[in-house]
Amino acid sequence: MRTLELGPVTVHRVIELERWPFAPAEMFPGITEEQVRTAGRALGAEHIDPRDGQIVMSIQTYVIRLPHATVLVDTGNGNDKPRPTLRAHHMFRTGYLDRLGDLGIAPDDVDVVISTHLHPDHCGWNTRLSGGAWVPTFPRARHLFPRAELDHLAAIHRAGPGDAVAADLARTFEDSVRPVLDAGRAAVVDTPHTVWSDDDARITVRDAPGHTPGHVVVELDAGGRRAVFTGDVIHHPLQFADLDLAQAGDHDPGLAARTRRELCEAYADRDVVILPAHFAGPGAGMIVRASGGYRFDWLEG
Ligand SMILES: [Zn+2]
Repeated sequence: MRTLELGPVTVHRVIELERWPFAPAEMFPGITEEQVRTAGRALGAEHIDPRDGQIVMSIQTYVIRLPHATVLVDTGNGNDKPRPTLRAHHMFRTGYLDRLGDLGIAPDDVDVVISTHLHPDHCGWNTRLSGGAWVPTFPRARHLFPRAELDHLAAIHRAGPGDAVAADLARTFEDSVRPVLDAGRAAVVDTPHTVWSDDDARITVRDAPGHTPGHVVVELDAGGRRAVFTGDVIHHPLQFADLDLAQAGDHDPGLAARTRRELCEAYADRDVVILPAHFAGPGAGMIVRASGGYRFDWLEG
C-alpha cells in the first residue's frame, strides 16, 4: 500500500528503509527453524529471504492528510544518530525528508507528530542535526508523547547507563526527545486521548502496552471506515501464526503477547486496515481469522 483513501482523508505510507534484515533468532529469540521455514513458504521472499533465511522488515511511517491538518505517525530512525550497541539503528543516511517532499510535504507543513512509542526507530526524525545541535525537524508540530512512555524513557535516562542497551535508549532521549521538550513542542498526554475530532475524521490514541510500557496504537476513523496504526505490537507477519512469539525488545513479553491477541480479536474479519511500522512488501492489510489463528491479507495498490 502506498496510499489509502478514507473519505476526505488520505493516508500515505512513507518508507524510511525498505529492507531491514535480521537473523531470525536476533529478532525473535524463541523462534524455531521450522517456524522460519513455514513462514518462508507462506509469506514469500519479500518477508523471509530464501537465500539466507533472514527475516526481512522495513521501517515506515504514515502521513495522515486531513482536509485541515497533516499528522505524522512515527518518525522512523532519523539520520546521523549514534547507537553503538543497537547497531541496526546506527548512523542512518537516508533520503526520508526527500520522500516526504515528493508528497508535497515540507517539515513546516506537519501539524501533529504521534510516536507509537519512543524506541529509536519511531522517534528518530523528531530531530535533525543542525550546526552540531539536535533541533526539531518539524518545528511547527505538536509532538504527542504518551505520559507512561515518556516517563519510562526519562527514567532510563535518569538512571544512567545500566547496560549498553540502556545507554543507547538514554541517547535516544537526549537526541530525539529532549530537544522537542526543550523547544516547547511536546504535548504529554494521558491515554486514551482524542488527537483530532471533526466532521471529517477522528484520531484516537489507545494503550497497547507490552513492547514498551507506554506503547499506543493510533485509530483513524474517516469516511465510515477505520485504520489502525499498530507500531510495534506486531513486528513481522510471521507472528500471526504464533501470537506468543516474543520480539527481542519486548519489555514485558507476556503483556505484549496479550496485546497482540487483543488486537487480532478486535479487528479480525472487519473492515479495518492495519498499518504496522515494520511489515515489508505491501506493508498494510487486514487481519483474517484462519484455521487455528490469524493471517494477514495484504492491501495492494
Ligand atoms: Zn520498531
